[in-house]
Amino acid sequence: MARKKRSKGLRVSLMLTVGLMIVSFAAGMLTQRIVFREPQTDAGLTYIEDIPVMTDFLPEGTRARPGQKREIKYLVIHETDNTGTGANAAAHNSFIHQNANAEEGIVSWHYTVDDHEIYHHLPDDETAYHAGDGMEKNGGNMNGIGIEMCVNSDGNYEQTLINTEKLCARLLIEYDLNPSKALKKHQDFSGKICPSTLINSGRWDEFCSAVTAKYKELKADEAANAS
Ligand SMILES: [Zn+2]
Repeated sequence: MARKKRSKGLRVSLMLTVGLMIVSFAAGMLTQRIVFREPQTDAGLTYIEDIPVMTDFLPEGTRARPGQKREIKYLVIHETDNTGTGANAAAHNSFIHQNANAEEGIVSWHYTVDDHEIYHHLPDDETAYHAGDGMEKNGGNMNGIGIEMCVNSDGNYEQTLINTEKLCARLLIEYDLNPSKALKKHQDFSGKICPSTLINSGRWDEFCSAVTAKYKELKADEAANAS
């Protein structure tokens, strides 16, 4: 009898433990869940070929948006280095907005690209904080358009590369930049190994060639349309 009672007590405490584990696991999931930011009502949806581009600028006057106009000289390529599931362009748009007025560690950039869409966070003609070189003259922050490529483990990196190549080609045309001079790695400005996958796999030149090929295609289209 005494034995039976004890085993019942054990069973109850086991059930309680399992119950608590489930509750704390669910709570952990809740606190770690990425809060998705809905596009603002005035967000402009445009397309680069078949890629949706969501415009959701950081509010003027936030710390991450210094608002300083500058000459555009470079496209500065980055990778987020965030391989987490769901760390896509929409998630980074949420992140950049949530941290726009952070006390320290302010970061901002212009575009985030993943395997199915692009978010545009800042006007191209404004400075941002992504190249780690302060506001140096002819620097990445001062004169570069910061482009972050997603490396989320549930994304298709090869497709992200293709989407980024298309965005870069379009920007080179728009701002009349020479691909061989304007395409830069974050590493060129601060020494950080970024974009790390492209650098570590020795594919930076391949990426630049693909952008240049796309750029020439657009140039040829432009010439054909003008004639
Ligand atoms: Zn970077």
